[in-house]
Amino acid sequence: MTLSPQVVNLVYLIAATLFVFGLKGLTHPRTAVRGNLLGALGMLLAVVVTLLHKDIVTYKYIVAGFVVGGVIGAVLAMKIAMTAMPQLVAVFNGFGGGASTLVAGAALIETQMTPGIPPSLQMTVSTVASGLIGAVTFWGSMIAFGKLQGLVTERPVRYKGEQVVKIVLLLISLYLGYLIVQDPYQTTNYWILVAVSSVLGVLLVIPIGGADMPVVIALLNSYSGLAAAATGFVLNNNVLIISGSLVGASGVILTNIMCKAMNRSLANVLFGGFGEVQESAAADDIYEGKVKATSPEEVAMLLDGARRVVIVPGYGMAVAQAQHAVRDLFHLLESRGVEVEFAIHPVAGRMPGHMNVLLAEADIPYDKLKEMDEINPTFPQTDVVIVLGANDVVNPLAKTDPNSPIAGMPILEVDKAKTVVVIKRSLSPGFAGIPNPLFAADNTLMLFGDAKKMVQELIAAIKEM
Ligand code: NDP
Repeated sequence: MTLSPQVVNLVYLIAATLFVFGLKGLTHPRTAVRGNLLGALGMLLAVVVTLLHKDIVTYKYIVAGFVVGGVIGAVLAMKIAMTAMPQLVAVFNGFGGGASTLVAGAALIETQMTPGIPPSLQMTVSTVASGLIGAVTFWGSMIAFGKLQGLVTERPVRYKGEQVVKIVLLLISLYLGYLIVQDPYQTTNYWILVAVSSVLGVLLVIPIGGADMPVVIALLNSYSGLAAAATGFVLNNNVLIISGSLVGASGVILTNIMCKAMNRSLANVLFGGFGEVQESAAADDIYEGKVKATSPEEVAMLLDGARRVVIVPGYGMAVAQAQHAVRDLFHLLESRGVEVEFAIHPVAGRMPGHMNVLLAEADIPYDKLKEMDEINPTFPQTDVVIVLGANDVVNPLAKTDPNSPIAGMPILEVDKAKTVVVIKRSLSPGFAGIPNPLFAADNTLMLFGDAKKMVQELIAAIKEM
């Protein structure tokens, strides 16, 4: 069956509209599921109509790709631990970029088969853009994945003259791009361009410290969208141009949000090479003789006399899968007349919105989740703050130590509350790898143990009182 271009573009328009409504739905947790479904429906329409579109010689390879990719995707989605989600997102971004590079390369090779009809300027320029951005995205994402997975050092890898090297690589890529536009039949230039851009992708991400990965992932997400949009121009496919642009634009918005959350400028991110770990204060100096351990029973007594409690979830809550136990604690405290709210730091956990997703999964009412700017002024009126597996997002060094890798990052100012209870297994550092003076503060008590187990013991202790 061959559909007319009018019908195809009309369906693409419907799909694009569904993407936009889908994105709108994703702006609020209440409408997020519907938004997701609308986006998926749009994608289904786009895929079906593309498959029915024109001269597809054989469906054999497409079906094979569908089955292999589908099975890998489904298994990954079911098996992946919530805590490894950022790595998965990094890989997905990377594959998006890699796919764009390969498709654009294939389209360029295809032009050799019709030597009489030279490819248009639009086609060649967008092929170059696709190859360059796609390769940078793929390799940049692989390094980001390696850093998050612990396969590549989290520390920034710096060397003399790195900015010059990157600029030179970019210039070489652009020159190769120019050659491709001049003579598209020299496809070797395309693959050299891909190779040079791949090195550039590695060098762009490798100098960035692990603590700044949230910004990098968001930026790579945006790059993958731009690569897809460029491929849309290569293939003259409107829905790919639109969906790629939507991903590119939303990635930029997310990057901006992440930059604000970590107090970095976007220019700084684009230039690369930030987040360098410097010598921070030694853990022994900070903790020695000052850390006070507590027990679930003692915390239960504290909570008994509290009127307002704020829970600060972090990565450790995700690791321990403690969100359901937290919900039980929340209901128990509320039933005893305690006002309970959750303080959500934008980079808590390991992916944007990580804490919101987990708490929503546990059916904690959305209106109890407060963002940093809203909750920070309320800490002085808070009796007990429970820091549950969070560390960097409550680390006062961000404000006091200009050499720390998180210097300048806005934090949840929990130290202003009357009492802070920190639940974690040890004094180990968080993602940024630095000690946390909050653990040694006068008003802090440490409840050492697994987040889920400790919350369950806390609930039992409260019930026994
Ligand atoms: P952190 O990584 O700072 O700290 C998490 C703490 O959880 C650790 O100190 C660890 O201490 C504790 N923990 C681990 N497992 C358990 C467990 N089973 N029970 C109890 N505690 C546990 O987390 P935050 O959420 O405070 O900060 C997030 C960090 O991750 C930031 O530095 C951010 O930049 C970075 N990041 C964020 C991303 C995002 O998009 N949100 C993406 C990538 C990085 P212990 O071992 O002693 O238990």
